[in-house]
Amino acid sequence: MKSKYLTNSPSQTKKLGEILAKEILKIKPRRKKALVLGLEGDLGGGKTTFLKGFAKGLGIKEKILSPTFIIIRRLKINNLTMKQFANFYHIDCYRAQNSKEILDLGFKEIISNPKNIVAIEWAERIKKILPKNTIWIKFEFIDEKTRKITGKNPKH
Ligand code: ADP
Ligand code: MG
Repeated sequence: MKSKYLTNSPSQTKKLGEILAKEILKIKPRRKKALVLGLEGDLGGGKTTFLKGFAKGLGIKEKILSPTFIIIRRLKINNLTMKQFANFYHIDCYRAQNSKEILDLGFKEIISNPKNIVAIEWAERIKKILPKNTIWIKFEFIDEKTRKITGKNPKH
């Protein structure tokens, strides 16, 4: 993913998520731990919208929700063409009080498994427990229809 985008609609933001997912699937399967995406930035910035497209790009048919009470949700990746990943974890730290709460939900195991792709909304809140090679994506609210989406580390 290139470093900076302005999107003018939710569908453009979804498309960007879909493109990133397809790029990730091209990475050679030689990882020892999960692939972690840290989504940070404004409320209404488009993080959940982006992940809808991202899940679609992974071949997931289930709906991505904006989890109000659920903090961690696991979705199975059944796409036979990409056996390197088996699970997509959607984590939303909006309601988490601290990093410990996330750790208590088995976070360490989740990020240790190379078969997992883990996308975390409000990742800035648990920065200290995230791996150094986390792919950071920042979402900014510009105006009603415009969002600025910045990939902080384009190489993964
Ligand atoms: P977050 O998860 O960051 O809080 P959401 O994806 O849940 O954000 O919400 C984004 C909101 O902004 C949605 O209501 C969506 O319809 C609206 N929106 C308007 N323009 C855009 C855009 N360019 N990209 C993403 N969402 C947009
Ligand atoms: Mg959200």
